[in-house]
Amino acid sequence: MNVVERLQHELRHNGYSMTNSRLLVCQTLAKHAPISMREVINRLGGKVDRASIYRIVTLFEELGIVRKIPTGWKYKLELSDKFTHHHHHAHCLSCRQIITLPEDRLLEQSIEKIAQQQEFAITDHHIELHGYCSDCQQKDS
Ligand SMILES: [Zn+2]
Ligand SMILES: [Zn+2]
Repeated sequence: MNVVERLQHELRHNGYSMTNSRLLVCQTLAKHAPISMREVINRLGGKVDRASIYRIVTLFEELGIVRKIPTGWKYKLELSDKFTHHHHHAHCLSCRQIITLPEDRLLEQSIEKIAQQQEFAITDHHIELHGYCSDCQQKDS
């Protein structure tokens, strides 16, 4: 299923219809995530008005289409794992960028194993690394 089909499925499944604005917001996140609400608004450059974008993002969040990633007291947005492969993030404390980390099967298996040992049934997990990206490390030294 591609992004458009997936969006259509998620909307229909929850009793909502596909609209051009919803599609545009979804495609912007598919292309540029993780990005801030302001960046979504800028990227859409007036094609969808600001109030509609806020409404759509709120709806997407309720439906589990969008996930908010906290970055200090702000947040960035990305499509949920339903749309992308499961992954983790690294946050740079200096330039504030969020780096998407490659999937790691061993890490995922370890998490499963730890949960099993606690007889814990996991439905989801998030791992966020905090530190400095390679560019910012060079700037400081
Ligand atoms: Zn950085
Ligand atoms: Zn994971």
